[in-house]
Amino acid sequence: MNMLMVQTGDLLVNTFIVHAENSKETVIIDPGGSPKKIKELVDKYELEPKAILLTHGHFDHIGAINALKEMFKLEVYIHEDDANMLIDENLNLSVFASNAAYTTEEADVKFKDGDKLSVCGITFDVLHTPGHTPGSSIFVVDRAVAFAGDTIFKRSIGRTDLPGGDMAVMQQSLSRLKTALNPKTQVFPGHGEHTVFEDELTGNPFLNAN
Ligand SMILES: [Zn+2]
Ligand SMILES: [Zn+2]
Repeated sequence: MNMLMVQTGDLLVNTFIVHAENSKETVIIDPGGSPKKIKELVDKYELEPKAILLTHGHFDHIGAINALKEMFKLEVYIHEDDANMLIDENLNLSVFASNAAYTTEEADVKFKDGDKLSVCGITFDVLHTPGHTPGSSIFVVDRAVAFAGDTIFKRSIGRTDLPGGDMAVMQQSLSRLKTALNPKTQVFPGHGEHTVFEDELTGNPFLNAN
């Protein structure tokens, strides 16, 4: 798997552009904004975006979907418990955060825990990790790379005080991650620096707390 990373939107979401070694067909994970930046990278490497995978439905992770759909034919994937956030500006928080109500079309694929999403020659294992939002999910590739969204950050975790967030549920998700993720997994969060899961097992206060 080849991967490009670009920070998008006002809240600097990590957007990942990934494709199989032998293919130009490309998955975009969490296109939060800045569609021109994303398009420039896609064009530079002559990639063919086919799908958008969303770790969750907050506005800062979905803001470039509409613009990208005008440029490319894309299928949008999101967990079934966050699917309504795409079509409701109150649920995705865009009205509160940016004073600009933002919605997209309905998702094409609503996935759930344990699904294996085969997209563009890559298999993404879905780990449903609610807590930040009801449908927050982590995509794991080859037990080696995890796209973690706003569930876990380097030495921190995502907020649980927003609508739909729940600290008790987050604790359960974090406990589950300890057994579900290989310690050597490279973790790419939705904001900030990447990390290795074994470093979080020892250094992340939220993983040590339970
Ligand atoms: Zn979020
Ligand atoms: Zn975020």
